[in-house]
Amino acid sequence: MIKKILIANRGEIACRVIKTARRMGIATVAVYSDADANALHVHKADESIHIGAAPSKESYLMADRIIDAAKKLNVDAIHPGYGFLSENAAFAEKCKQNDIIFIGPPTSAIEAMGSKSAAKHIMEKAGVPLVPGYHGNDQSESVLKKSADDMGYPVLLKAAAGGGGKGMRLVNSESEFKDALGAAKREASASFGDDTMLVEKYLTQPRHVEIQVFCDEHGNGVYLFERDCSVQRRHQKVIEEAPAPGLSDDIRQQMGEAALKAAQAINYVGAGTVEFLYDKDGSFYFMEMNTRLQVEHPVTEYITGEDLVEWQINVAQGHTLPKNQTELTMHGHAFEARIYAEDPDNDFLPSTGRLKLLQPPQEDKHVRVDTGVLEGDEVSVYYDPMIAKLVVWDEDRDKALQRLLKALREYYIDGVATNIEFLYNVAASQPFRKQELVTTFIEKNKHLLFAKEVAPDIEKLPVMAALMLLSEQQRSRKSTGDPTSPWSLPTSWRANELHEQTLTLHYAGKEFALKVSVLNDRQTGLTTNAWKVSYETSRWVVTGELVEHGLTVNLDGHRQRFTWSQQDNQFVLFAADEAYHFTHQLPDLGVEDDNNSAQGFNAPMNGTVVELLVTPNETVEKGTTLMVMEAMKMEHSIKAPATGKVTSFFYRAGELVDGGAPLLEFEEDE
Ligand code: ADP
Repeated sequence: MIKKILIANRGEIACRVIKTARRMGIATVAVYSDADANALHVHKADESIHIGAAPSKESYLMADRIIDAAKKLNVDAIHPGYGFLSENAAFAEKCKQNDIIFIGPPTSAIEAMGSKSAAKHIMEKAGVPLVPGYHGNDQSESVLKKSADDMGYPVLLKAAAGGGGKGMRLVNSESEFKDALGAAKREASASFGDDTMLVEKYLTQPRHVEIQVFCDEHGNGVYLFERDCSVQRRHQKVIEEAPAPGLSDDIRQQMGEAALKAAQAINYVGAGTVEFLYDKDGSFYFMEMNTRLQVEHPVTEYITGEDLVEWQINVAQGHTLPKNQTELTMHGHAFEARIYAEDPDNDFLPSTGRLKLLQPPQEDKHVRVDTGVLEGDEVSVYYDPMIAKLVVWDEDRDKALQRLLKALREYYIDGVATNIEFLYNVAASQPFRKQELVTTFIEKNKHLLFAKEVAPDIEKLPVMAALMLLSEQQRSRKSTGDPTSPWSLPTSWRANELHEQTLTLHYAGKEFALKVSVLNDRQTGLTTNAWKVSYETSRWVVTGELVEHGLTVNLDGHRQRFTWSQQDNQFVLFAADEAYHFTHQLPDLGVEDDNNSAQGFNAPMNGTVVELLVTPNETVEKGTTLMVMEAMKMEHSIKAPATGKVTSFFYRAGELVDGGAPLLEFEEDE
């Protein structure tokens, strides 16, 4: 019997496993690296044990150290979560040798699915449909090319040992074959030390549909329906849902049975996922099998009402499956959105930093937030930048989608860049609402999804202006603590000052200089904040009010509500149809910085150093541009606050800099 489990993982999945174990009365042990000494999973576990330095290779991937910890603390079983050691056959074997239950499939099943080509041979024999292709041993160029010519272009070259999209190349025509093969092989050798290639027919508009399977050691197996994971960036999933929209019961059953056949072909035990490409004509093809719990398992839990971790723990101690196929039913619709610390507009570059604000939406029977971090935690360079999984459920897809949008609007994070507004734009887009799911969804709809790609909506400019002014007012009120203080008014703004001033914002890849003047009570008859805003030939009167993350504006007599969030000078305004991302363009740094403190030379946000423009120790005039940084696709000039010299630069051109980091040292002339 399992009385104590060690979770060989971190973050949200460690917390997730602990939750079920606790409910089952099982004691839990967390492991942690130097970087995670104070992490949520450590606090949630009954006991925890330090296993090494921050880099995963020196901690979460140290199989022997984890086994030693498990033995020392008399653990009965190890749950590997996903990633790290979860699909490492040698680790599973070591657990067994040490009389520790590995909560996962038998070593032989992990090994069988380890190579894409070996897995395909097994599946072919078992009669599971495969993407037409070549997965043979003869790796001569002529044989590989002939197979591509025979099946017809486009084809996809894949590394047999591959994963994470590495060693994969699309070949559109015969003439591209030779170069693509060379490139794929080089990448495969470099990444996996093995350049064995598969050639597959490239499906142009497939969906990624995967089946959750479960088997016990008594020969029983079931499938817990499917998940659609077509919305992917860099071949990685971002929004998943269950059931797959528009999938007929007939196809569902065919896929489910094919997946079970796949699992049974390798004597599978435990939770597994069989991934298929699903083509528009209704055909589906085996892609690979993941021999562990998937990140996106909560959507399956929502629609089936089952706890998959509980199933895993029970099956691992030899119990039979709690339900058979006919007892399993689906109810309603669930979505999962992966909240990442990353910058979608900068090629999804991971963002690091301290979570200054972390306010997830309220959890209830419709909303579940699986997370492994707390406000104040650091998103470090060492691990995956996933902050949380936001999971929602309702009776049908439309209702669930409304829940997802609402929950995304109510997710507030400050301190790192996040993909929240990007996820919002995906979920709010017409193609997503209309279930036009394909693995190329993001690429195909980029004009609707990325802040830098969307066409500007001029009517939103006065709303943005009101938001910037109100948020600045709120901020200065907080810092002076006195709402009646003249400093409580937005910087350089004074009540009753009627002359126009310019507010510059950057939105949809363009700069907008708005003319704004304050309207006083006498003019409007209102006591609320009111402004006249103009841009080119458009003019508006806007009044506004902020209550926490809610913004109410009255725009020329049309009262509207929005939610908003802010990170430094970047804002997101959530409207029903879209999230509007914009930046309050601040004056160049340094110019107004009269005191010669290092403050003026800090990076305005996470970004890249573009150019260093002066030579250290060379005297420069006040106002000279010292260096240029780029962040959020915008350039920022750092200028000399006075005549003096740069004594040293802390970064070189091309280097990444965290927001707030000191950039240079400047010495003012006497
Ligand atoms: P990896 O193991 O490197 O992640 P996979 O084989 O799982 O690679 O494929 C990842 C993604 O690549 C799939 O979800 C799908 O979007 C795309 N893909 C893979 N094979 C094909 C194919 N034959 N045709 C079209 N797209 C494919």
